Parts: sequence; structure tokens; C-alpha cells
Amino acid sequence: MHIEENKNLKAYNTFGIEAIAPYFCEVYTVKELQEIFRNEKFRDMPLLILGGGSNILFTKDPEGLVVSNKIEGISLIEEDEQHVVVKAGAGVVWHDFVLHTIAQGWGGLENLSLIPGTTGAAPMQNIGAYGVEIKDTFLELEAIKRADGSLHTFTNEDCCFGYRSSVFKTTEKDKYVIATVTFRLTKQPVFNTSYGAIQETLDAGGITELSLKAVSDAVISIRQSKLPDPKVTGNAGSFFKNPVIDEALFNRLKEKYPAVPSYPQADGIKIPAGWLIEQAGWKGYRRGNAGVHDKQALVLVNHGGANGEEIRQLAEDIQASVMEKFGVELETEVNFV
Ligand SMILES: Cc1cc2nc3c(=O)[nH]c(=O)nc-3n(C[C@H](O)[C@H](O)[C@H](O)COP(=O)(O)OP(=O)(O)OC[C@H]3O[C@@H](n4cnc5c(N)ncnc54)[C@H](O)[C@@H]3O)c2cc1C
Repeated sequence: MHIEENKNLKAYNTFGIEAIAPYFCEVYTVKELQEIFRNEKFRDMPLLILGGGSNILFTKDPEGLVVSNKIEGISLIEEDEQHVVVKAGAGVVWHDFVLHTIAQGWGGLENLSLIPGTTGAAPMQNIGAYGVEIKDTFLELEAIKRADGSLHTFTNEDCCFGYRSSVFKTTEKDKYVIATVTFRLTKQPVFNTSYGAIQETLDAGGITELSLKAVSDAVISIRQSKLPDPKVTGNAGSFFKNPVIDEALFNRLKEKYPAVPSYPQADGIKIPAGWLIEQAGWKGYRRGNAGVHDKQALVLVNHGGANGEEIRQLAEDIQASVMEKFGVELETEVNFV
């Protein structure tokens, strides 16, 4: 394992923020990861695990050791006539994994095409898009306990998945490093095209016969038309979660803003955060090199050279303005360092 000192992490986060890690290394195997937790010099240092850095904002330099997770490998664990059980190393690029499952004819992840980052980070916030979340096909994961380097298995139930949430963001925060993730996928796909513009895009492309690839291609094309490419403009996707509000507040909002979009949930009514931010006048706003994307107000961007503190300040101003105008609290989805 090669440890580098004073490593610039600009290329390791999709916001493209400059941050210096005192110590940095890439790990390729579970064994290497376990070695770190048993190493006298590193085991008591603060530790930050990085996947693709696509859901992180560096507002300062991290302390201690930053580990870039490169644990590779995709393996078929079990197969019957209807299902497959497939396991991926935490460092496998998520979109590559999705494309692999599609090429094999295994359904379940096609709506999650083109989400940046690694497979190991996907359970952290139960990634979701176009009506699908990973909890729908997730079977289990293996994670290393930071305290002693021991390997543990978490089932779907153990992960307590919720909207952009899991135990790894709540009760078990910073206690484990995810090493592998296992999914149960289907050989007889049930297509989910009703969400967003998927069906419309398929119709526009003259697709009458559904396939995993056709749905994936439609999702990719919608995402490319709406979201900024981090290789061109720094960003971390949705900066805020969509708030779920109670009925009384929703009724007050509806009275004042009859056009407010709403999605009933078991625990309240979900309102698109992008709509609230746009109505509060922030869409396309720019302050120095930090800004709000001009096609999707939920995405904050680094036009080049912004630091994390500028982006955090902009996010706080947006939260305050949405609270003042609508009385709705916006929670951040991005992880802050
Ligand atoms: C353009 C764009 C579009 C996006 N669209 C979506 C979307 O549609 N849906 C969605 O849900 N998300 C979306 N995201 C957010 C992001 O892609 C996901 O959250 C993704 O899962 C992050 O993966 P990562 O490997 O980049 O994680 P990182 O940003 O590297 O890490 C995120 C957090 O997880 C921790 N972590 C990472 N790997 C591990 C591990 N192996 N073990 C323990 N902790 C770990 C990190 O310490 C950090 O706290 C988008 C981001 C971008 C830039």
C-alpha cells in the first residue's frame, strides 16, 4: 500500500474543490483495508473513505488519512430461472456495474443508469432515481468495522433504508467501511417507465418494444439533457433532499401557490426542492464562481475556482430564503467535510 502525503483532492471530488489530505492511499482489496485499521500509525487517525467523490463537499482540508476505495470485481453468486444474485466490489464504478447487469439481461437497476460514484457508496444514501431506489434490489453488503477491522454483513433490513438515508448516515455513521454490495436482480424485468419523462423519451425515439437497454438509454438521455456533467461543471447532483411536509403546511402552501407540485408519501407530502428554490428566485443565480444550475435549481455548481466555503454559504442562503418564503426546511443531501 502506497501512502502519499499532502495529496490534492481536486481530481477526487466532482465539485472540483481544492483540498489537501495529510495522508492518502488507494486500496484495492479488503485485506489492504483491514491492514489500515490494524496499523499503529493510522488506526487512531481520522479517516475519510472516498468513492467517486460525487456526493461530498470539502469546506476545509480533511484530517488524517483519506482512502480512495478501488475494490474491484463483479461476481455471480447464485442463479435460478428467474433471478440472479450478483456481488460487486465497493470500488466498482456504479454506472459500469449497471451497464454490466443490463448486458447480461438482468433487470432492476436500469432506471439508476448514469448516477456517478461507486457501488460501495450507493447504499450510504440508498441512491434513487426515476421511481427506483437500490433498496428495491439490494440483498446485503459486507462492511469492515473501523474499530477493529472485523468483517460484518448487513441485510436489507439491517440497513434501515429510507429516502436518501441508511444506518450508515445515521446510527452507524463513520463506524464502517463498505467493502462489497450484493443485489438480487431479475431475469424477467418489470419495466418502470411511468416516472419523469422516460415514456415520453421512448415514444420520441420510436421505441415500441421495451428492453433494459432502451430504458437505460432513455434515462441516460434525460439525465444528460438536465444535469451538468461534472467533467465540465463541478457539482454533486442534488444538493438538497426533497422535503416531506405535513398536511397543514401543505394546505397553507397550496392556498398561496396553487401550482405547487406534490407527491403524497406515507409520512407526509413530498415537495420538489428544485421547485421551491426556483420559485424563490435562485435558478441560474451566480455569486463569484459558485452558483445554481440554470436547468435544475436543485444542483449547486462550481463554475471553476470556487471553494467549498463559498458553496456552503450559498446553500445556507438558499435554505434561509426558502424557509422565509415557504416555511419549509431544506435538508442537505451532500456530505460535508
Ligand atoms: C451529476 C450528478 C448526478 C447525481 N444523481 C444522483 C441521483 O440521481 N440519485 C442519487 O441518489 N444520487 C445522485 N448523485 C449523488 C451521488 O452520485 C451518489 O450519492 C453516489 O452514490 C455517491 O457515490 P461516490 O462513490 O461518489 O461517493 P462519495 O462522494 O465518494 O462519498 C459519499 C459519502 O459516502 C462515504 N463513502 C463512500 N464510499 C464508502 C464506503 N465504501 N464505505 C463507507 N462510506 C463510504 C463517504 O465518506 C461520503 O460520506 C448525483 C451526483 C452527481 C454529481
